[in-house]
Amino acid sequence: MSEIIPHWLTKQASLSPNDTALELEDGSCLTFNDLMQKSQSFAKKLASQGVDKGTKVGLFSNNCTEMVIAIHALSYLGAVGVFFNIRLTEKELSFQIKDADVSSILAADGLANQINNMNFSLQILSFADVCKLKEVNVPLATEIALDDAFTIMYTSGTTGNPKGVVHTYGNHWWSATGSALNIGIHSNDKWLAVLPLFHIGGLSLLLKSVIYGMPIYLLEKFDEQKVHHAIMNCQVTIASVVTVMLHRLIDLLGEEDYPKSFRCMLLGGGPAPKGLLEKSKDKRVPVFQSYGMTETSSQIVTLSPKDALRKLGSAGKSLFPAQLKIIDANDEGIGEIVVKGPMVTKGYYKNKQATAKSIQEGWLSTGDLGKLDEEGFLYVVDRRKDLIISGGENIYPSEIESVLSSMVGVKEVGVTGLEDLKWGEVPIAFIVLDDASVTEVEVLQYASKNLAKYKVPKKINFEAELPRNASNKLLRNKLRELMQ
Ligand code: ATP
Ligand code: MG
Repeated sequence: MSEIIPHWLTKQASLSPNDTALELEDGSCLTFNDLMQKSQSFAKKLASQGVDKGTKVGLFSNNCTEMVIAIHALSYLGAVGVFFNIRLTEKELSFQIKDADVSSILAADGLANQINNMNFSLQILSFADVCKLKEVNVPLATEIALDDAFTIMYTSGTTGNPKGVVHTYGNHWWSATGSALNIGIHSNDKWLAVLPLFHIGGLSLLLKSVIYGMPIYLLEKFDEQKVHHAIMNCQVTIASVVTVMLHRLIDLLGEEDYPKSFRCMLLGGGPAPKGLLEKSKDKRVPVFQSYGMTETSSQIVTLSPKDALRKLGSAGKSLFPAQLKIIDANDEGIGEIVVKGPMVTKGYYKNKQATAKSIQEGWLSTGDLGKLDEEGFLYVVDRRKDLIISGGENIYPSEIESVLSSMVGVKEVGVTGLEDLKWGEVPIAFIVLDDASVTEVEVLQYASKNLAKYKVPKKINFEAELPRNASNKLLRNKLRELMQ
C-alpha cells in the first residue's frame, strides 16, 4: 500500500498561511493561502471539463503564476500533468500528445494561438479560458498517495527519441527532501526559479517551495540582467542554473560580489567546463555542481558546500536517500553511472521495453560515463553513446569541448567522431566563434598545447550555429551532417 501524506499545499497553507509562496519580478506576491485558494478554484473549474483522477492534461506554458496554479490544481484532481517544451515543433509535440494519451491541453494565454494553429484534434484551453468557467463542486484531494503518478515529462531527446518519464508524488517528495538534507533549509531561503517549469529542474522548485514552506522568485525566462538583479537586490539565496546561464552571469558580475546571503548557485543539466568553474571560484560565486536527469526527478548527485572548492569539477556524492555505482569500469576506472533511490522514476509511460532496458532491480542505467575518486566523489565524463575510440584509445568529446571552449574567441564547441581508415575513428570539432579572426591553425595550436596528440581534432569546422534540441542541448549526432 502506498504511503499517504496530507496534500502538501493544503498542509503548508495551514502551517504558514501568510508566508510568501511565490514572488514575481513586479514585486507582487502570493502567500501559501492565496496559492491554495487559487489552485483549488482552478481545479473546480477544470473539473467542469471532465478532468478527473488519472486524466492526462498537457501543459504548454512559459513560467507564470497561472502555470504554478494549474500544476497544483491538477494535484487536487488527481490528474496527471504532461509537460511540453514550448519550443517543440508540431511533429515533436504531436508525438508526445499521442504517446502520453493527452486528452486536453492548458496553454499560457500568450501561447494559445501558437498551439491552436497546429490543428491538433483535442481541446485546448488557455488559462484565461479556464478562469471563465464555472466551478463544479467536486471533492478535492486532501491527501496524496506517494505511489500515484503526478507528472509525465519527456527526456530532452539528445540521444534518440524522447521518452515519457512518469514521476510519482513520492519521486518529487524524495527529490525535495534529498536536496534539503544536502543543501539545508534556512529560514531566509528564497529560491530563484528561472529554469523552465516544463523541465524537471524548474518543476522541482515548485514542489520544494510547498514542501519546505519557502518562497520562490519566479522569472518568465532567462535574462541575465534580471537574474543578476534578483540575486543582488531581491534577497534570493539560492538559484538553479545551467552552464550557459552561469557563463553569462559571471561575465556580467565583473568585479562585484554577490551578497553574502546568496549561498548557492546550483549548477546542473549538463557538463560544466573546468574553466567556467575556476572563473566562478575566482569570483567567489558559490557554485554547487550537480548531476541528474529527468529520470531522477532532478539532481541525484550534488557536491555539498563543504567540498565545493576542494573537489572542483566533481558532481559530488549521491544524495542521502540515493545510491550510485560505476559498472563495467575500464582500467582508468571509467564506466557507466548507475543510480538507485526513491526519487528515481519507476519507468517510462507505456514503454515496458525501454523501462526494462534502463531499470533493473531498482538501478537506473544512466547512459552516462563517469568515475569515482578515492573518496567516492563522482566525475561525470560523457555520454556512453558519444565515446570515440581512436586507435584503441578512448576519447571523450566533452573533454575536448571543455578545453577548446576556454580559448579566447571561441563561443561554442561540439566534438564528434569521424570514421577513419587508419584509426577507426578520429575526433573532429565544430566551432562557433565570437571573434571571426580566429583561424583553424590557431585552434589546432591551442588544442596541441592542451590535449594529448590523439585527442587533437583532425579537422576544425567553423559554423554559424550548432544543432541543438528544444532544450538547447547540443545534438552531437547531428554534427557530422554539417559537413555535407
Ligand atoms: P535523452 O535521454 O532523450 O537523450 P537527455 O538525456 O539530454 O535526453 P535530460 O534528462 O534532460 O535528457 O538530461 C540528462 C542528461 O544531462 C544526463 O543523462 C547527462 O548526460 C547530462 N548531465 C546532467 N548533469 C550533468 C553533469 N553534471 N555533467 C555532465 N552531464 C550532465
Ligand atoms: Mg537521458
